[in-house]
Amino acid sequence: MAKDVISEVFAIDVFNDVVMAERLPKKVYATLKKTIEEGEELDLDIANIVAHAMKEWALERGATHYTHWFQPMTGITAEKHDSFISAASNGGKAILEFSGKELIKGEPDASSFPSGGLRATFEARGYTAWDCTSPAFLREDAAGVTLCIPTAFCSYTGEALDKKTPLLRSMEAISTQAVRVLKLFGHDDVKKVDCSVGPEQEYFLVDKEKYMKREDLIYTGRTLFGAMPPKGQELDDHYFGSIKERIAGYMKELNVELWKLGILSKTQHNEVAPAQHEMAPIYGTANIATDHNQLVMETMKKVAKRRGLECLLHEKPFAGVNGSGKHNNWSLVTNTGKNLLEPGKTPHENIQFLLILSAIIKAVDENAALLRLSASNPGNDHRLGANEAPPAIISIFLGEQLEDVISQLIETGEAKSSKQGGKLNIGVHTLPELKKDATDRNRTSPFAFTGNKFEFRMVASSMSIAGANTVLNTIVADVLSDMADELENAENFDLAVHDLIKKTLTDHQRVIFNGNGYSEEWVAEAERRGLPNVKTMVDAVPSLISEKSIKMFEKFKVFSEVELHSRAEINYEAYSKAINIEAKTMIEMVNKKYIPAVIKAVATLAESINSVKAAVPSADVSVQTTLLTDTSALLAKAKAAVINLQEVVTEAATKEEGAEQATYFKDVVFSTMAELRAPIDSLELIIDKEAWPVPTYGELLFEV
Ligand code: ADP
Ligand code: MG
Repeated sequence: MAKDVISEVFAIDVFNDVVMAERLPKKVYATLKKTIEEGEELDLDIANIVAHAMKEWALERGATHYTHWFQPMTGITAEKHDSFISAASNGGKAILEFSGKELIKGEPDASSFPSGGLRATFEARGYTAWDCTSPAFLREDAAGVTLCIPTAFCSYTGEALDKKTPLLRSMEAISTQAVRVLKLFGHDDVKKVDCSVGPEQEYFLVDKEKYMKREDLIYTGRTLFGAMPPKGQELDDHYFGSIKERIAGYMKELNVELWKLGILSKTQHNEVAPAQHEMAPIYGTANIATDHNQLVMETMKKVAKRRGLECLLHEKPFAGVNGSGKHNNWSLVTNTGKNLLEPGKTPHENIQFLLILSAIIKAVDENAALLRLSASNPGNDHRLGANEAPPAIISIFLGEQLEDVISQLIETGEAKSSKQGGKLNIGVHTLPELKKDATDRNRTSPFAFTGNKFEFRMVASSMSIAGANTVLNTIVADVLSDMADELENAENFDLAVHDLIKKTLTDHQRVIFNGNGYSEEWVAEAERRGLPNVKTMVDAVPSLISEKSIKMFEKFKVFSEVELHSRAEINYEAYSKAINIEAKTMIEMVNKKYIPAVIKAVATLAESINSVKAAVPSADVSVQTTLLTDTSALLAKAKAAVINLQEVVTEAATKEEGAEQATYFKDVVFSTMAELRAPIDSLELIIDKEAWPVPTYGELLFEV
């Protein structure tokens, strides 16, 4: 009998609930569960017992080291490994130890992580604290097997230096406020509301050998040069296309690696662009989903390398073909298992749903720029607002059914019906009759209601989803809190809730848009509606430190004002650094690769003209001559542009770090980079393929 691969490997590398139940004394297990579920403090005695069990389990599995695994503000994960060795016994045998203290607290030197001014380097101390809500896991690589303990990371003075801490805080905030609202509807049994997140991860795979020949891919994750091949994605033959053997093998290995880590890898398919693919896991609690998504990205890269491939997570690895994003599916689920975003068959009668829906609509409308920022990194600026998946304008897609309910509410003060989906007639009798959804999909919307969840589609593919969910949770918590304040004091709840829904929807209907988000008309229409169109990440940063944001984040203790300022600084710094590296990479490639290659090509042409002329003085050398003239002209253009770029990069370094420098990189350096790219891409189209110094788009995208 064939074996059940999934069951055999699933979660074997995770110290999860099942393992804990098996290995911990009953009382300890119960206390730990309580801590996890109710967020109580963990005492050291319990931690010691858990640590011991964890160590024994890890050693049995071959572990030699443990690490506090954390998520500094670089957006990737960090770790420092310690072995379990504590001393040698008299007999010279190693004693292996791992105490509760070591489990719950670590002290990595924090000085080299971005802190946005939160910490001077001489105050280098940082702490990592065990996040017992996310299970420990084992990771195997060339270093051996390591026990990884998910942790939060903070400074000596208690400021969060990571992405996890604010996320956990925001989860508490939304839980508290949602529980208040649910109480008003009589749900006294609900003690906690979790946000569920399912991030769909897009990625590209390219051949490693070709990748290694391109400094732009190596240093920046994207191509900084490259002419379009004759074929791009216009045939739409890649999307959901049959998967090539080499890629299928990759996906198979990736799945097994993810399943071992307890990650519910579910869906895989080819995406729109050639060489582009997607993996979607089954959703989970935001915190764990965030940890898992970090592991997904890491594993995608690791498995690719093993198989002679490179995985590109950059948002826009290739100009002219679709880039990658991360659709962040988000919903709210009670500890009693109810999804608060489930409208039911007749949403018009579901007052609780309509209240929560209106809260989300208001939150999104009032915090559009903040949401935009939460999904931004330098790479994503190439997508948002650049004529491909989601526009930079934040709007909400609700679909026909809900939009109809809402317009009834706004117009008549009452919603009397919900449009139903009906049956789908395919016109072939042997095919089953399909039930049609009440609502079609809209691929262009940045924030779309998809049945029982919202899909935030702006998030950058290479980015941690922590920030986006922290913002989402907090802005919704903020509105729910105001609503609860109002309704708790209402004399007539039914009347008050009805009025509140109507008023909220009326005030914020401008953010609802069911049409084509890519169209020019929408840009104009959005402007008429007063919706912000924040074109770049740099322009979005101030939203983080506006008076309104500071007040909101402080109210829910998600970020302090100091922490917000540090994040703003880090955003500016990250932007400046990314563009600086890109510009310098371009300069290096042009000076060391493209110009020398073109000079050789020009010389070959000149020699050819001379030798032809010498052999047959009357021969027609017009082709070579035109080519020589054109090539030389482009070469001169490229040289001038590279000098220009060097100048602005030098100038950028003199700007004051922060907003000023980032703005200069955005306004000046970025456009100067485009001026250098243009002549090189033109040269690529006329120069002998053999003479071209790097693999082309065609080779990268179609020869995988
Ligand atoms: P599509 O590409 O059609 O949007 P996918 O199946 O690729 O759909 O991805 C949908 C994602 O949404 C999956 O990760 C899924 O687990 C997640 N999801 C489904 N229901 C919820 C929910 N209630 N809350 C959060 N995420 C959800
Ligand atoms: Mg999908």
